[in-house]
Amino acid sequence: MTDSTTENAEGAESAAVCSAKGCREAAVWVLAWNNPKLHTPERRKTWLACEEHREHLSQFLGVRGFLKEVVLLEEWEGRRDGSAADR
Ligand SMILES: [Zn+2]
Repeated sequence: MTDSTTENAEGAESAAVCSAKGCREAAVWVLAWNNPKLHTPERRKTWLACEEHREHLSQFLGVRGFLKEVVLLEEWEGRRDGSAADR
């Protein structure tokens, strides 16, 4: 997405927003997933989700067998400490 008002080229973790389409809520959850057809097994793609969309997004990934983990954002950031979300 290219939104002219914000520059989030590097490290946008302070403005973590839900990944659900059209949602501007602050993200609370991180959904870590992996598509085995595209990614190596240890690779983790991440989606961010607000409280409302966590279930919707995790179901979307879950039915495809992609979903690996659902973690609180603050816990996730504590784990990776600084490395930007890979999307
Ligand atoms: Zn949302």
